[in-house]
Amino acid sequence: MERCITTGDDPHAGGLPLIGMRIDEIIETSPDPTFSFEFFPPKTDEAEAALHGALETLREMDPSFVSVTYGAGGSSRDRTINVVRSLRLEHGMEAMAHLTCVGATKDEIRTVLGKMREAEIDNVLALRGDPPGGEEKFAPTPGGFASSPELTALLAEEFPFCVGGAAYPEPHPDARHDDDDVETAKAKVAAGARFLITQIFYDNADYFSFVQRLRDEGVDVPVIPGLMPITSIGQSRGFLAKIGARIPDAYRRELDAREDDPDAVKDLGVSYATQQAAELLAAGAPGIHFITMNRSPATRAILSTLRLHRPWEPAQKPRAAAPTSAA
Ligand SMILES: Cc1cc2nc3c(=O)[nH]c(=O)nc-3n(C[C@H](O)[C@H](O)[C@H](O)COP(=O)(O)OP(=O)(O)OC[C@H]3O[C@@H](n4cnc5c(N)ncnc54)[C@H](O)[C@@H]3O)c2cc1C
Repeated sequence: MERCITTGDDPHAGGLPLIGMRIDEIIETSPDPTFSFEFFPPKTDEAEAALHGALETLREMDPSFVSVTYGAGGSSRDRTINVVRSLRLEHGMEAMAHLTCVGATKDEIRTVLGKMREAEIDNVLALRGDPPGGEEKFAPTPGGFASSPELTALLAEEFPFCVGGAAYPEPHPDARHDDDDVETAKAKVAAGARFLITQIFYDNADYFSFVQRLRDEGVDVPVIPGLMPITSIGQSRGFLAKIGARIPDAYRRELDAREDDPDAVKDLGVSYATQQAAELLAAGAPGIHFITMNRSPATRAILSTLRLHRPWEPAQKPRAAAPTSAA
């Protein structure tokens, strides 16, 4: 830990330092599961105002850490760094920068990492990234990295960041065989990743079996589930279909039945994700990483409910009602 700004009397901080901590240390020392939020860097004034509105609310939820995505093709390089800096220094939240290999040589990536150090960023999520728009397959930039384990190795060997990686409980569309995602996750950890955050999924069985396969391979880092409540039919058919997230048939039917009622879709999405998170935490998941889409209501409702019920604590079984004696 290089630097630590403590939060003094902040009632939301529980006496813990909010910034200047490595995420592996946050996970290790947190008495409860970690709850983290993912944001994307806004491109317009309107989007920036929306992000600030969400931040005002979500800051009150006292996240363990937050993260900021890196635009496809490296398009948001400086914006990602600026948002992370602002989240850390103006909002007092530990913030991680995502970084991809797309469209950059190794030296250009070293330059970006140097800027991240100048911005006092301590945590980086190392990703291969998707091919730039219009291209089907990922192809390394000449002089760049071919895979995320290579990028992870550079970060771990040449910089003092705490490095995380992505993981895929459902097969990634580029997986070459059934064990590819397990092997790639193992390679990321061998290269220096200290924790993994999963792709969005809607069937917990996928997460449980993926984590078991990692453990069988001797991979013992925390694997934080990435969750995104479905809040619109469009999202379920567009973005989620694109990343290959399978929506279980029964859930899909319930969503389709609400096609003409956007509020009912949101209500269902929040209650489904709450139940999903509760089951994950009860089974020992180390935390939940919420993909917020820069909005607060769904994440706030789910996290508030989880904290009220604390499903990660051993079940307090209600006593069976005493039998009434027949008079
Ligand atoms: C938590 C999380 C955060 C994300 N944040 C961002 C972001 O900020 N910006 C962004 O643009 N995208 C982001 N993504 C999306 C991500 O960039 C894509 O899913 C991308 O296609 C894969 O990147 P990766 O680092 O996870 O890939 P990897 O896990 O390294 O590989 C993806 C798949 O390709 C297979 N593969 C095929 N060929 C090879 C090879 N030669 N070497 C190694 N593996 C190979 C792997 O086995 C694996 O199945 C995020 C995804 C997750 C889960």
